[in-house]
Amino acid sequence: MSSCSEAVGHTTADELLAGLARIVGADHVLTDADRRASYETDWTGRFSGQARCVVRPADTAQVSGVVAACAAAGACLVPQGGNTGLVGAGVPRAGEVVVSVGRLDRLEPVDTTAAQVTAGAGVTLAALHAHAEAAGLAYGVDFAARDSATVGGSVATNAGGLHVVRHGDTRAQVLGVEAVLADGRVVRRLGGLPKDSTGYDLPGLLTGSEGTLAVVTSARLRLRPLSRHRVVALLGVESTGEALDVLAAIRGLPSLSAVEWFHDDGLRLVRQHSGLPAPLPGDHPTYVLVECAGPEPVTEALAAALDGLAAVGDVAVAEDRRGRSALWAYRERHTEAVADESAASNTGPPHKLDVAVPLTALGNFKVAVRRRCAEAGARVILFGHLAEGNLHVNVLGGNDELDHALLLLVAECGGSISAEHGVGIAKAAWLPLVRDAADRAAMLAIKQALDPQGLLNPGVLFAG
Ligand SMILES: Cc1cc2nc3c(=O)[nH]c(=O)nc-3n(C[C@H](O)[C@H](O)[C@H](O)COP(=O)(O)OP(=O)(O)OC[C@H]3O[C@@H](n4cnc5c(N)ncnc54)[C@H](O)[C@@H]3O)c2cc1C
Repeated sequence: MSSCSEAVGHTTADELLAGLARIVGADHVLTDADRRASYETDWTGRFSGQARCVVRPADTAQVSGVVAACAAAGACLVPQGGNTGLVGAGVPRAGEVVVSVGRLDRLEPVDTTAAQVTAGAGVTLAALHAHAEAAGLAYGVDFAARDSATVGGSVATNAGGLHVVRHGDTRAQVLGVEAVLADGRVVRRLGGLPKDSTGYDLPGLLTGSEGTLAVVTSARLRLRPLSRHRVVALLGVESTGEALDVLAAIRGLPSLSAVEWFHDDGLRLVRQHSGLPAPLPGDHPTYVLVECAGPEPVTEALAAALDGLAAVGDVAVAEDRRGRSALWAYRERHTEAVADESAASNTGPPHKLDVAVPLTALGNFKVAVRRRCAEAGARVILFGHLAEGNLHVNVLGGNDELDHALLLLVAECGGSISAEHGVGIAKAAWLPLVRDAADRAAMLAIKQALDPQGLLNPGVLFAG
């Protein structure tokens, strides 16, 4: 549906660049290949393309001007935040203008009465966490890419992360957004009213829209009470069934803030690439990492919930910051370890399928995934967010045919082909597996209504 062109009407490519330079300043229109390079390849190294240029606006008015200029010229654009996305949706494919929002990094003072804050799209999650904590509050979404991933990118992908079991995904934090529409007009809903049933929920719609409906410039975000007490436990278990027994035993704890999991092969990779020591005295096929956090001490309640559980034999517990980080490292370093391994083993960039399946199907699904990968001669590393049945299926030596077989398995058991990373370019071809014709037509109608020229992130979400 995209109608991107070299130049439309009376605007030539050079005129577009000159117009963009007038809006953001010539220093912030990057046309040289070496200055564009870091914006043109994604975190995994699997997706890359050439940008017409990279534009770095400083505020909402400049974003609006940039988008309007692109619309007038019929030039497609790709919004980009921290470029940590894992589905190829934040990098150019075919000469688009990359609109990098990193300079929109303004953080307004925390409203401690409402427990809310307004953050610019370019604010990193790490900066947002620090800002909220300085005011005695916390932001509910966190994950390993926190130092680079931005508010705008996490809103655009509806990022999940480590604390969905406690606070929900990014959509559950978003009270409002400010965004620039495809023609340059600005919609602003940053009032932060917790109750507001006035018409369509545009902030909810834009959350998870992957840069296909608007460029998010700012978000009004819900904050949570800061937990002064925190405990992390790493448990070695013998099967998926035992991991789920652990989950069932702790699910009712009000302090529960994370339930993650990984396996022996992933742990070996992490240790190999990081030099970390073994976390537990014994080796186990599966590991569950649990975090509890709250205003009062939380360790006793966790111990009581796990007490007597047959699955819990080998366990490490940490209450101090250093010990907790040391245990988290075994889980958080998986993504990097897989990337390092793919480089070292020359298998090409990993194929990353971030999927979710019903918990009742998890055990059989895991077995089927391993079998399919083995049959295809590929290696697979599985880890993720256990409480949501969210598995990151990292395939080394994979291909599109294997992706197809694995995503079919997901669909067959009533799962999601994208739990938290988005559909992007990587999975657009498989959207029909989980969204029927009427559903896709409704989504496309929204896209066409808000972006009739098809200029925003073409190829993302809708293939072809
Ligand atoms: C080590 C590692 C761990 C990760 N762990 C998790 C995890 O646990 N949970 C999770 O959900 N994700 C995770 N991710 C994926 C990634 O970090 C998230 O998708 C993140 O939200 C992307 O943010 P970003 O700023 O880097 O966005 P980018 O990568 O720049 O862009 C991602 C998408 O958002 C769009 N976009 C970016 N900014 C805007 C904007 N201002 N307006 C409109 N569209 C925009 C882009 O066009 C693209 O479609 C991980 C990534 C890495 C590398």
